[in-house]
Amino acid sequence: MLLLYNTLSRKKQTFKPQKRGVVSIYACGPTVYSAPHIGNMRTYLEQDVLKRALIRLGYKVNHVVNITDVGHLVGDANLGEDKVKLAAEREHKTARQVADFYTAEFERDISQLNILKPDVMPKATEHIREMLELIGHLESKGYLYSVPTGIYYDTSRFKNYGKLSAMSFAKLNKYLKAGARVERAAGIKNITDFAVWRLRERQSIDEMIWDSAWGEGFPGWHIECSAMSMKYLGETLDIHCGGIDHIPIHHTNEIAQSEAASGKKFVNYWVHSNFLTVDGKKMAKSIGNVYTIGDLIGKGFSPMAIRYLFISAHYRKKLNFTFDSLENVAKTLRGIYSFLQRLSEIKRAGAADPKFSKKVSSAKKEFFGEVDNDLNIPGALSAMHSLISEANRRIGNDRLTASEAKKVMAAMMEFDEVLGLEFERHSKPKEDLDERIKKLIEMREAARKEKNFKGADLIRDTLRQHYRIILEDTKDGVRWHREG
Ligand code: AMP
Ligand code: ZN
Repeated sequence: MLLLYNTLSRKKQTFKPQKRGVVSIYACGPTVYSAPHIGNMRTYLEQDVLKRALIRLGYKVNHVVNITDVGHLVGDANLGEDKVKLAAEREHKTARQVADFYTAEFERDISQLNILKPDVMPKATEHIREMLELIGHLESKGYLYSVPTGIYYDTSRFKNYGKLSAMSFAKLNKYLKAGARVERAAGIKNITDFAVWRLRERQSIDEMIWDSAWGEGFPGWHIECSAMSMKYLGETLDIHCGGIDHIPIHHTNEIAQSEAASGKKFVNYWVHSNFLTVDGKKMAKSIGNVYTIGDLIGKGFSPMAIRYLFISAHYRKKLNFTFDSLENVAKTLRGIYSFLQRLSEIKRAGAADPKFSKKVSSAKKEFFGEVDNDLNIPGALSAMHSLISEANRRIGNDRLTASEAKKVMAAMMEFDEVLGLEFERHSKPKEDLDERIKKLIEMREAARKEKNFKGADLIRDTLRQHYRIILEDTKDGVRWHREG
């Protein structure tokens, strides 16, 4: 049984999918106009923990993350130009080249962080037809009006507009005015109204313009998520995720569009994760306080240390990023990995002490109890560390038997189904590990002989990031040593 905090009801609820054993999850994906930063990655990591917790409970998870390659304007609402278009101009590339480049960066980042790949990653530019159909539907139901710049959704027509943010229509209007985030384009009726279709402008580029019954133009950002989520997961989703910044505008508008069109509840559980901050401020490109995964790897941190840091805070709490905290968790993780290695080397004969076996089962119970309580990973980690301390004490006194070690190892592997910290990879005796490292070095040598330097570098980076092995090319051949 999983308890999840639902933004819509503002309380923890027992999770129940519509169809027994199957869960549909939609998460707003990246806008592919620049390299994703670690703040974005925190959100995808929290979603990955949710997905893993559901899989562990036996659900089949259908997971969709869209790629926004058109329609996201510089202001989240109706302000400014398309982010991808601006990047194309800045980088002297086509919009497609920009979008493909940053989509690949996103995919590389999620794979490095051991985030399970979504089942579908639909691109907005490949779903214009579905968006136009949805717009047609909304028009026939009388929710739209047109102004010189585009086709707008009349938010005053949607009952309970703003229910997700718990703000009344008047309060949301006031919120948007205070933030001055919305352009008052000529003819717009309410400040909360938003474009579902924007008409071609003088500075538009052909590549990002499509024909439609309302004239040439491009879709609004919010219509993308409504159209793509409903296409792949049906009119009612079990879970919709995203960062908390999307509650008052983007997700509020997704609800208005989807529910107006289908007449059904759009999402049963809204799960929002809090921000990664720097010096208390949200990490954001516009503020310029961003790091990418590549930046941190370049400074010698492993992707698993980054993963550990982000999931060790509760997803609904802010997490302030510092290099000191990353340094600390990297050390903790190294400790866990060497603990796993030591466990795998225990050969002491003897039966398992029933008292210790009880400790293992109570640690497991506590760990998964915390996970199932709104994904309380900090609590789960403390249960895991208490088991590690107890086992380490027994190793120190030369009391841990091989059968006890096996039980602890099995528990650790179960924990890792949710944590995703690659425990398996580190659970081999040193000699086996050395064999694996030797094999990787041989593969690198072969790649270098074939002049496949990219492949060779990749193996060298893997050895450093995952095994903390540093290679040295000397005139007598390759030497290796373990980092510090
Ligand atoms: P974007 O590419 O800007 O649409 O953002 C992708 C995802 O990252 C969204 O779910 C955002 O809510 C989330 N996000 C953006 N900035 C941060 C941050 N500083 N911390 C956590 N999540 C963030
Ligand atoms: Zn979205």
